[in-house]
Parts: sequence; C-alpha cells; structure tokens
Amino acid sequence: MRNVVILGSGCAGSTAALYAARANLQPLVVGGHEPGGQLSLTTLVENFPGFPDGINGPDLVENIRKQAQNFGAEYLHGSVIEADLSKRPFRLNVDGQWIETRAVIIATGASARWLGLPSEQKLIGHGVSSCATCDGFFYRGKKIMVVGGGDSAMEEAIFLTRFGSEVSVVHRRDEFRASKIMLDRARANPKIKWLPSTIVDEVLDVEKGVVTGVRLKSAKDGRAWEQEVDGFFLAIGHIPNTAVFKGQIELDPDGYVISKGGAKTSVEGVFHAGDVQDRVYRQAITAAGAGCMAAIEAERFLEAEGH
Ligand code: NAP
Repeated sequence: MRNVVILGSGCAGSTAALYAARANLQPLVVGGHEPGGQLSLTTLVENFPGFPDGINGPDLVENIRKQAQNFGAEYLHGSVIEADLSKRPFRLNVDGQWIETRAVIIATGASARWLGLPSEQKLIGHGVSSCATCDGFFYRGKKIMVVGGGDSAMEEAIFLTRFGSEVSVVHRRDEFRASKIMLDRARANPKIKWLPSTIVDEVLDVEKGVVTGVRLKSAKDGRAWEQEVDGFFLAIGHIPNTAVFKGQIELDPDGYVISKGGAKTSVEGVFHAGDVQDRVYRQAITAAGAGCMAAIEAERFLEAEGH
C-alpha cells in the first residue's frame, strides 16, 4: 500500500514527488508514455527562474527527478492503463500490475497535437515547436510559420511577430475557429501573412537536421509549392492525458480535469497538478508550482486521515 502515487514525470509530477518525498511519504511516480513530459521535447529553457543562462528542457526535468529521488521518491517506467478511483484505497493498473494507494496526484499533462508527419516529428526541437512562449525567442529576425486556426494559433502568431521578420499562418480551411476578437487582432497585425485553405505536406529538411522550409498544398486546387521557413510552430490544440479517468473524476468536455479549488479534483484524495488541468498557462514554472500545491494538499489529506 502506497501513501501517494504520482502519475506523470514532467515538471508537475516530479515537483510533486520532491515535495511528497521531503514530507516522508515515499511517493511512487509512474513515468507515463512521455517521460519527462513536454520539457523533454524542448531545447533551451530561458524562462525558468534560477537559471540566468537558461537550461536545456530535458536537463531541467531530469534534475528535478534526481532531486526527488535524493529524498526517496521512487520512479516506475510505464503508464496507467486502468484506474479505480471509486473507493479507497485507490487502485491503479500500471501495465498489468495493480497498485494500491491512499492518495493520487494526476500530473499526466496534455500532449500537444501534432500533424503527424514523420518529417515534423524528426525536427521537433530543431525548428519545429509546439510552444511559442518557450521557443519564439530563438527566431529573432527569422521567418516563422504557425499552423492552426484557433485562438492558440492567433495568440502564438501575434506573440511571434515580436521576434520573426514575418509570420505566416497556415490553416486548413477558409474559416477560422478563433474568436472574433483574436482574429481581428491578428488580422490587424501587418507582420502576419495568411495562408488559408492550405495543407502542410512536408517539413524540410530532415537530411540537414534543421527546418529550412515547408512544402505546402492548396486544399482547393491541389497546387503545391515550397516556402522558406526557419521556425515551424504547431498550434492545433492539446490533448489532456485523462482517458483512463473518464467517468471516475469530473472532466470538462475536452477532457481536462475540473479543479475543485487548489489541487482538489471531484474525488477526495485525488489531486491534480500541471497541464492536465491547465489550459491557460502551460508553463514549466506553473506546472512546478502546481506540483508543489498538489503534494502539500496530499500530505494534509493523509495527515487528516491519520496516516
Ligand atoms: P482549437 O480551438 O481546438 O483549434 C485548433 C485548430 O487547429 C483548429 O483551427 C483546427 O482546424 C486546427 N487543427 C486541428 N487538427 C489539425 C490538423 N491535424 N491539421 C491541421 N489543422 C488542425 O485549439 P486551441 O486554439 O488550442 O484552443 C483551445 C481552447 O483554448 C479554445 O477553447 C480556445 O478558445 C482557448 N484559448 C483561448 C485563448 C485566449 O482566449 N486568449 C488562447 C488560446 C486558447 P479546424 O478549425 O479546421 O478544425
């Protein structure tokens, strides 16, 4: 029987593990299908306080993991494939092995939605990014492309005009899902060029190991062309990793955990941390803060239960 099992080993999960370990709870962290979370997909992180010269995303999350392990946190490879949160102790099936625990911290994150092109996947961190706030700075004076037609795409495109010489927005349809106010704001920005009804066929150039351009195709007449690009940003939504909790805790229509204040979920003893609940900030530092909150709340819950 575990005191607390933390699901997810990104910034939120490992910070929760650090705090829970220092509270002597001997937490078990289930790494998940993207160990290290979104930070493991980034390169230089320059906005995590405490690192004046920046730190590589994978190093940052690895450091937090080691720090948690130094205080006794245990890490398990694997993912939760089934969960029973209907009664205590809670039961979690990690790749076929059932684990019982008094408290759970869900820090399973939200994965960026990708186009799924092999070239795009190979160039993540080498010109392909899913986070303008994280990586925009690296494209000062460069040509940037943003894919998407929702509020995120508008927000990222507007943000990226601070850096790029030009920002093209590629969207697969003529109509935009973005709210009128965001769309108007983006349309009023002279640095933004528009490519509606356009599909991304390929990101170039895998052989060079860095983004040099894209191959595009008109969704209307199939005409294909190439365009030079240095930074290729995806803003086509995120998918919260909550499928196994459906019907067990309250989720919003998109699958994000609904917070009941602080780090509480709709089930007593089950807490949330990081992007699995946060569709607004999605930063390493906010996820770390949320991990800290969840661990403190789990500790107080266990204390009140006499453990
Ligand atoms: P979203 O509203 O779901 O929009 C995703 C966009 O990506 C859509 O335009 C969609 O095209 C496109 N897309 C999805 N899959 C694609 C694919 N495989 N290939 C090409 N394009 C694809 O997601 P979001 O923009 O991240 O916003 C999520 C939520 O957060 C929304 O409720 C939004 O209002 C909110 N949000 C608000 C703000 C703000 O108010 N400041 C900022 C960001 C986000 P289709 O339109 O053709 O489906």
